[in-house]
Amino acid sequence: MPLALFDLDNTLIQRQSALRSVADRFCAGHGLHLADVPRVAEALRDRAYPATFAALRRELHLPGPASALWDWYVDAISAAVTCLPETLGGLEQLRDAGWTVGIVTNGASDIQHAKLRATGLDARVDAVCISDDIGVRKPDPDIFHAAADRCGHPRADGWMIGDNPATDIAGAHGVGLRTIWIAAGRDWTHSGRPADHNATDASAAVAHLLTLPMPFTSRPR
Ligand SMILES: [Mg+2]
Repeated sequence: MPLALFDLDNTLIQRQSALRSVADRFCAGHGLHLADVPRVAEALRDRAYPATFAALRRELHLPGPASALWDWYVDAISAAVTCLPETLGGLEQLRDAGWTVGIVTNGASDIQHAKLRATGLDARVDAVCISDDIGVRKPDPDIFHAAADRCGHPRADGWMIGDNPATDIAGAHGVGLRTIWIAAGRDWTHSGRPADHNATDASAAVAHLLTLPMPFTSRPR
């Protein structure tokens, strides 16, 4: 069975668009000023961990423990992120067509699991591999091997779909996966080898995978 591994944030779910509203509500709910919103949004832009909130708490003189701020954020961002119906449907189509589908994502365990549950993605994939759960992050080869293993594949043979040129695309090339880059209107400026295919979003990536002959060769070119 062919294997498709997907990144989570800004590939399957729209984290970026959810972030501003969460930053707004964080400031409003914690006695901060409107002027603090960009600072909070910037701190959360790429990735948020409990340590991010420990730093914000110090900087912005917030009361209470950092863990309470983190818990607030886990609830807020998981409720705010969305997975488009066509993306959810695309994953179902892929599995119906005989693909094994996994998610491989960098991030803290509790927040990534909360987002997977809230969007219904957890029920539409065969396996999930979160960096925090296994102690290695993309682009480390081990996380791709671990994700393949969780999908029942003895080695990472198949496709990786993601928005990040370094962690998703270069990382996947490093273990011999073929790749689809979620370009979302961007040009490829990374120094590494470009992806095997570019797509505007996850459902376009799925549509490309469904055009491939079965079984296809997944060896790197
Ligand atoms: Mg991403």
